[in-house]
Amino acid sequence: GIEAGGITEAYGEFGSSKTQLAHQLAVNVQLPKEKGGADGMCIYVDTEQTARPERIKQISEGMGLDANKILENIKFARAFNSDHQMLLVQKIEDLIVKEKLPIKLVVVDSLMSHFRSDFSGRGQLADRQQKLNKHMHDLLKLAVKYNLAVYVTNQVMAKPDTFFGDPTVAIGGHVLAHNSTVRLYLRKGKKGSRVARVIDAPHLPDSECAFIVTEKGITDLAPE
Ligand code: ATP
Ligand code: MG
Repeated sequence: GIEAGGITEAYGEFGSSKTQLAHQLAVNVQLPKEKGGADGMCIYVDTEQTARPERIKQISEGMGLDANKILENIKFARAFNSDHQMLLVQKIEDLIVKEKLPIKLVVVDSLMSHFRSDFSGRGQLADRQQKLNKHMHDLLKLAVKYNLAVYVTNQVMAKPDTFFGDPTVAIGGHVLAHNSTVRLYLRKGKKGSRVARVIDAPHLPDSECAFIVTEKGITDLAPE
């Protein structure tokens, strides 16, 4: 599970399961508290058009849940560009306060894709980082004020000056690193598995866990 009251950022290469994890969390947040959920709803901001209600259905059924009910409690919102993405997040407070929706999870998948393409020109980086900073603050404020969990996904790029160790680094720079409460680095493991590593979390030990993505959703990998 991920924590309420902060932002969890998952970064990793293509196919490392960032989006699959988003789908699983959108289901899990609806479970009762005694089963590790938060008895709440999910807002799913989709920037790459990779959200799949069919997949939610499959996961729900795999868990023995009523798929239609689960889908009713996930509000999908497609963001067309970075400004629209920011606006969507700013509107979430209305859903909580005015419409009294019990939102306990906000997903932004992927956080950076629009920011990357909207501010790709020379000299636009400072502008991008300023907007991104505002966006992250908006998300963090929601998390803290309404004690909900925020899950954002991020891409990686190759770091050409790394000769030893892992040559990939999350994009978004310090703005993202600073504002994320927990950072998870996802990568492909052996035999189709995936590995999640907790990076630089002050209150958590550096740890890794392996999991697999199956028809029924994400499950821990049993140790061999
Ligand atoms: P990107 O950077 O391209 O957005 P991502 O990290 O979001 O990548 P996902 O789309 O979450 O990656 O991961 C895709 C992986 O999930 C694939 O490797 C695929 O094998 C697995 N997967 C997707 N759907 C299923 C399913 N129904 N059953 C089993 N595995 C699945
Ligand atoms: Mg994805």
